[in-house]
Amino acid sequence: MVEVRRPDPEAIARAAALLRSGRLVAFPTETVYGLGADATNDAAVAALFRAKRRPAHNPLIVHLAEAAAAESFASFDERARRLVARFWPGPLTLVLPQRPGSPISRLATAGLDTVAVRVPAHPVALALLRAVARPIVAPSANRSGRVSPTRAQDVVAELGEAVALVLDGGPCAIGVESTVVDLSRPEDARILRPGGVTRDELEAILGPLAEPSRAEAEAPRAPGMLASHYAPRLPVRLDARSVAPDEALLAFGTNEPPGALWTFNLSPSGDLFEAARNLYRALRAADESGARAIAVVPIPKEGIGEAICDRLARAAAPRPDRSSAPEGV
Ligand code: AMP
Ligand code: MG
Repeated sequence: MVEVRRPDPEAIARAAALLRSGRLVAFPTETVYGLGADATNDAAVAALFRAKRRPAHNPLIVHLAEAAAAESFASFDERARRLVARFWPGPLTLVLPQRPGSPISRLATAGLDTVAVRVPAHPVALALLRAVARPIVAPSANRSGRVSPTRAQDVVAELGEAVALVLDGGPCAIGVESTVVDLSRPEDARILRPGGVTRDELEAILGPLAEPSRAEAEAPRAPGMLASHYAPRLPVRLDARSVAPDEALLAFGTNEPPGALWTFNLSPSGDLFEAARNLYRALRAADESGARAIAVVPIPKEGIGEAICDRLARAAAPRPDRSSAPEGV
């Protein structure tokens, strides 16, 4: 049985010792549960890729207790400093140029000359990172391509024995992953993945962000163009206006078409933050509902709704080969 512990000081000390010895430890962050490994230890990072069955070309985010701890291996420009001052600790990941001689495992960065860094806001994550005093890679604690875990029991269901210890910090407050912003080029800043920090919040600091055109982002994709990810077992049907009797329904606000086998309203009051917090738990529960498929009503794309819609689009994307479903942006 995998060890699941309340994150008291003793459990955090044990988790830190396990990480320093190259083992994998799952811990809560404000976004989702992360699967941690020592970012400077090639063998530990390789074990993490194996545990998640994550393709080696998909780089990992390096987590730190404070921004200063990243200065030795990542190059912060003026834009990065402004974002750090406003959003760290918090659900924002920065992709920055990596300094020569960086101690970060090249497996963690997939051999790129950039590195993704974040200081999470969860007190348990911060206590653990302080105790380890090393950079820690921590992708979501799920099998690659699957629904991310927002509770300790989800981690156990996903990874079982592959993880040495799970710190149980209760359900995650934000419920979707961090926003990933690419600052590796001085001439533009781009959102690589929408997430817990919204586009409007970023643009208030950075000005307008470069991005793929709306048409590119919204057009129905040819099979394979949109990587399947965040996928429950059941097929997902988006923008549902009505629902079949053998479908599970994810509703939102007052938009709850009748007739589903099973219904989960992501936020009866129409609050997008509540919907984000409930999204992955709802997809997991829908899988267990006995339905044939999952229908989802339209979700507004504003604010954190952009991240919700991104995850749902990937959950609904064609799954040409589930056994090798890629994970990534
Ligand atoms: P996760 O799988 O939730 O840990 O997500 C990590 C995300 O950060 C993925 O979408 C990665 O592709 C992205 N990422 C990490 N490092 C880099 C990097 N150096 N350049 C671009 N994207 C990165
Ligand atoms: Mg993930």
